Amino acid sequence: MSQVFLLDTTKKPLNPVHPGEARRLLSQGKAAVWRRFPFTIILKTDVVELVVHPLRLKLDPGSRTTGIALVNDASGQVVFAAELSHRGQAIKASLDDRRVVRRSRRRRKARYRKARWQNRRVPKGWLPPSLFSRIANVLTWVKRLSRLCAITAMSMELVRFDMQLMENPEITGVEYQQGTLMGFEVREYLLEKWGRTCAYCGATDRPLQVEHIHPRANGGTNRISNLTLACEKCNTAKGTQDIRVFLKKKPIVLEKILVQARRPLKDAAAVNATRWALLDRLKATGLPVETGSGGLTKFHRFQRKMAKTHWGDAACVGKSTPEVLKIDQIHPLLIRATGHGRRQMCVTDKFGFPKQHKGRKGTYLGYRTGDMVKAVTPKGTFQGRIAIRYRPSFILRKIDIHPKYMRRLHRVDGYEYR
Ligand SMILES: [Zn+2]
Repeated sequence: MSQVFLLDTTKKPLNPVHPGEARRLLSQGKAAVWRRFPFTIILKTDVVELVVHPLRLKLDPGSRTTGIALVNDASGQVVFAAELSHRGQAIKASLDDRRVVRRSRRRRKARYRKARWQNRRVPKGWLPPSLFSRIANVLTWVKRLSRLCAITAMSMELVRFDMQLMENPEITGVEYQQGTLMGFEVREYLLEKWGRTCAYCGATDRPLQVEHIHPRANGGTNRISNLTLACEKCNTAKGTQDIRVFLKKKPIVLEKILVQARRPLKDAAAVNATRWALLDRLKATGLPVETGSGGLTKFHRFQRKMAKTHWGDAACVGKSTPEVLKIDQIHPLLIRATGHGRRQMCVTDKFGFPKQHKGRKGTYLGYRTGDMVKAVTPKGTFQGRIAIRYRPSFILRKIDIHPKYMRRLHRVDGYEYR
């Protein structure tokens, strides 16, 4: 079960506790709620200095969702899990919108000038805002979690497959099959190289098997250049036939496969720039950072018979993964990045004409739009996020409520939780 973070009276992190223990502390008045998401309680009286067990923060960064897991390496307990959804596409869309509005505003007053884009200098290590936001999201959560528990090390998945393991081109008989770490790395490599499709029929929606282009029975080797991926139907149909015989009626496919087989996957090591940039920033926190490959993650996940989830993958990242992972009844906290609003003072309609002007003030009576509140009113009890107005009447779930009935549960912080 996901545990509850516990702070002492000076806000220093203690060992996370079982939810039952947290409930007991709260009902006996020994602790108070410090934060709703992730759920954290703070003790009201000093405790004797206890041994605080070190935790490892593990990350599986993805383009849409990043898996987060906090693991106690000594006991194998997964203490906390979360799945963080990024907003890369939303950022791209809003920047595109802004560009259209700016261009049309300029065009109204100035004569046409050719668009320029090569007069912009980009600092070293620059990433597009949509990619940078992913890194910023992850760093935000690394920072938040390290305030709530004793994180002493980090692990992250850096590459899809380990090129060092692949350097030895000869793979012995059993190793190309799934079951060994090498096999997992080879499979990941082949999936990337062959675009996750069956080489013979192009099917993408079914499980793919590792397949020898020149069959083993006819003296084909286990070299990575002799391997491809095929669906079960094609694999069985081909059997021990020579590829030239099997694809006699499809000369174009045959030619493509033979060319692709010889071509090494060049950019295998640099799968994506974002992960390397994230690694640099994680290292800058001063904690030791361990990196692992996607093949290793998958190998660990299969060994421990875990279902594929983002947080589960995160828990399996890196060589430090404990032999037994205790994941009973873990419910990941689902976090969605929503951004922190915008600075735009003049909202335009879709034609770029001003529609609405915003005030400079973001708060009213201490509340912000997006704060999560609980309102106990004569009409009933309501809970949710509010939209403020600049008068004592806020919108909560489409109805107007006076702030005197409200109690804030969670401040707006750029994320949504489920
Ligand atoms: Zn096929």
